[in-house]
Amino acid sequence: MPQKILKSAHYIELGSYQYWPVLVPRGIRLYTYEQIPLFLRENPYITDGYRAYLPARLCIKSLFILSNETVNIWSHLLGFLLFFSLGVYDMTTVLPTIGASREDYVIYSIGLFCFQVSMLCSVGYHLFCCHRSEKTSRCWMALDYTGLSIGILGCYVPGVFYAFYCNSLKPDGRVHRPFRHSCSPPYDIHTWYWRQVYLITVLAMILAVFFAQIHPHYLTQQWHRLRSVILCSVAGYGVIPTIHWIWLSGGFGAVIIQTFVPRVLVMYLIAAVAFLFYIFKVPERYFPGQLNYLGSSHQLWHILVVLMFYWWHQSALYIMHYRHSQPCLDYSLHA
Ligand SMILES: [Zn+2]
Repeated sequence: MPQKILKSAHYIELGSYQYWPVLVPRGIRLYTYEQIPLFLRENPYITDGYRAYLPARLCIKSLFILSNETVNIWSHLLGFLLFFSLGVYDMTTVLPTIGASREDYVIYSIGLFCFQVSMLCSVGYHLFCCHRSEKTSRCWMALDYTGLSIGILGCYVPGVFYAFYCNSLKPDGRVHRPFRHSCSPPYDIHTWYWRQVYLITVLAMILAVFFAQIHPHYLTQQWHRLRSVILCSVAGYGVIPTIHWIWLSGGFGAVIIQTFVPRVLVMYLIAAVAFLFYIFKVPERYFPGQLNYLGSSHQLWHILVVLMFYWWHQSALYIMHYRHSQPCLDYSLHA
């Protein structure tokens, strides 16, 4: 090892019983799977390139070195910048053009804000998971899961809002006309509840997932499958309001259903493919040690999550535009 790099080495605490040399600022040592602490051992097919035992300052510096987390960090950092830029562009250009109401701006902002929070939580976890303290690493992991739930919430809010747009009746039976051309008749006094029912249910599920993380085993390796099943359930719950919406809209023959259901299906398809990569650790399972830095399942998962959020964001704009150009004529046929 060159002398000048050795000179910059210092020792950090490794657990509570020994010390480990870390090279700063010239380099941060990378470890093999066998060398990292147990709490970082999630994927045995990624055999090398791990950062570990780092204080917070070096975790941040590791943003600029090549490790097996580099693509994970940068994919969602760029994802955050994408949704931030989209927010600025759409708010100043697209929404005023399609005549968005104040409600549209609020719903649009909630969706996009959730996506941005989700991206930043993920960046935080992948940056600080290598912290020398297991507790700190676990806290960031909890935040990553919370961020993902918030991202899912960001999909539900505009989806449910616009799906039940024309079925919104006020409790007194008057039609709540979301925009001035609305001509939805007051078919059913109960339909106005559905938007609130679905949004409150989703919010309750996400809060339940958040508080489940307090359980001491929730973030452990043993509960990895259970965590995945819970997240899948929160995302899969969207099928229920979707079927209800199809029924309320008059079935598959309705124009809005034929236009928008394919978009919902594409979103679920992207989510399913992303989840399969994530849960089965494909493709590195078939190429152990060869995809340590590029092409691993978690990187594909990250990219597909950005793609899914982007797709849903575009779909929300699409249906918002649809609602402003088409009157609410063909709704509530079964209500
Ligand atoms: Zn991740």
